[in-house]
Amino acid sequence: MNSVGPFFDLDAFFKRLKHADKRALLLDYDGTLAPFRLNREEAVPYQGIRVILNKFLELDHTRLVIISGRPINGLRPILGLQRSPEIWGSHGLERFVPDGTYKKVDLRQEQRKGLERARQWLEHEELTQYCEYKPAGIAIHTRGLDKVLAERMVEKVRRGMSFVSGAGELTLQDFDGGVELRIRGIDKGLAVTAILDELGTNAVAAYLGDDLTDEDAFRAIKGHGVGVLVRSEFRPTAASLWLKPPHELLAFLQGWLEALGGKEWQGKVKGDSS
Ligand SMILES: [Mg+2]
Repeated sequence: MNSVGPFFDLDAFFKRLKHADKRALLLDYDGTLAPFRLNREEAVPYQGIRVILNKFLELDHTRLVIISGRPINGLRPILGLQRSPEIWGSHGLERFVPDGTYKKVDLRQEQRKGLERARQWLEHEELTQYCEYKPAGIAIHTRGLDKVLAERMVEKVRRGMSFVSGAGELTLQDFDGGVELRIRGIDKGLAVTAILDELGTNAVAAYLGDDLTDEDAFRAIKGHGVGVLVRSEFRPTAASLWLKPPHELLAFLQGWLEALGGKEWQGKVKGDSS
């Protein structure tokens, strides 16, 4: 684990956790809890992650929240936990709370029209096979393509989509493995801010993520908790800490549990096959 910029004292952070009124562990999914797979349905968590997250859910001393670009209904089956944690899906557009509450921001007519025009253009250009249609966006995936082909496709999409993103309702954003057409103004930073507001002032929180779309969340958590870049290779980031998955990620999560007094579960992680 490495600090980004000024030294980040992780031991002091874990001590603060112990004395906090409330705690929140906010986690991205793809590339953070789970390695990337060409078939996105096969992107299950790293070995050892499920048993630790189940322990968080069981002990209930920390508000566990997944904040993902995936739609919620696509995320829950591969997450595979004993019970569902709180999930913000589609970059924060939809939210599921463990008491069964589900909320989704309604799209405006102009936004729906823009997405429909984009879908028609992608079909016309025969790019549908690369597309993931979400409740409020379209991700165009280039993972697995030759690098030059991938760059050409992204460039083509950028030019082709100028008619929808130019209106101000939608925006195109790069991510690790493609480009995504999204609703402007809805991002993971807003989700993090909403959760922090609910927690109140004496809360300690962390946000862990890997991608460019996580930078909004890293900026939002500054001053309220720690942003953690989870990535094999470093890149410039607004996070305060950088760790490599899966071993340093597991160590971070184990450190969190240990800071709150739990050691008896450690042996279980070694035997975990999920
Ligand atoms: Mg990610």
